[in-house]
Formats: sequence, structure tokens, C-alpha cells
Amino acid sequence: MQHFDPAAWRARSWSRLRRAAGKGRPSHRAEAAWAADQYAIADLESVVEWCRGRGVEVVFGKRAAGVYDEATRRVTISAHAPARKQLVYLLHECGHHLVSSSNGDDDRFKMGYSAAMAEGVERTFVHKLAVLEEEFEAWHRGWRLARRLELSLGREDFDRVRLECLKSYVQWSNRRSRD
Ligand SMILES: [Zn+2]
Repeated sequence: MQHFDPAAWRARSWSRLRRAAGKGRPSHRAEAAWAADQYAIADLESVVEWCRGRGVEVVFGKRAAGVYDEATRRVTISAHAPARKQLVYLLHECGHHLVSSSNGDDDRFKMGYSAAMAEGVERTFVHKLAVLEEEFEAWHRGWRLARRLELSLGREDFDRVRLECLKSYVQWSNRRSRD
């Protein structure tokens, strides 16, 4: 587990570029990846700062994509993903945080993640739909947050990761379930 350290992130990005250059002439692709990292790292700084202000801890560790733990108010993001993906995962998990912290006045999501612990609920179609609805909402709020923080992240880059994640959720929801 590791906390966000912009200097370490930049150093890692720089050494990736150096390694690519070491294998021959520097490719445009490696340079573009380096440039994308720089923007994403600056954006990550803003979002991690926003989390700090809300009492949400952000850590990077060995896991796929990201997860938000409501009980501990902690977001864990894949340490191995490229910076831009980390940024989009983080925005999405912030979206989950926003959904769960406004749950008091909105019971739309009470059959979703918050009900997953109840016996038998997890496999019902109603539960799956509620989880899907919360996923869409978390993406929506994540993007709104990106706009509010005036990040340089573009909608296309955000959507590329969003669609990848939503696809796996839709496949999960399509698996046989009780209704
Ligand atoms: Zn999610």
C-alpha cells in the first residue's frame, strides 16, 4: 500500500520513457504516453487533495481497478495501472463516495451495494439492477467532479475506461439470476 506521491509518479513515468528510448530511437508512442502521464499526475493531485478535504483516504495497492470502502472511507486504486487509468478509477470511486454519503436523502440505492450483505439478496435481479444503477450514477458523479475540479482529462479518455468497466458489469448482471 502506498499513498500518492507526485514526484515518485513522475519519476516512474520518466524511467519508462528512458527505457523505451534505450531500446532504440524514442517512439512517438512512448513520448505521448509520457505526456499523458504528466497531465494525469497533475489531475491526480487535485483529486487526491479533494479526497483529503472530505476525509477520504486514497491508497494504491495490488488490486484491479479501484474500490471504495464506505466503512473506512478509503479508496484503493491499482498501483500498476497507468496514471490516466488511475485517475479515472479514482474519479469513479469518488462517485461511489458521493453516492453513499448522500444516501440518507435518496433511497434509490438501498437495494444495491448497501444490501449486498443481506442473505440471498446478492443474486436477485432487483439487486443487480440497483448495483448497475449505482455504477452509472458513480460514473456520472465522477465526471461531474472532474469538471468541477477543472481537470485536463478529456471526456473521450474518461469514457474509454468507463465503457470498459461498465461492460464487465453488464456481463455480470446478465449471468443467470433469480428474480
Ligand atoms: Zn463502481
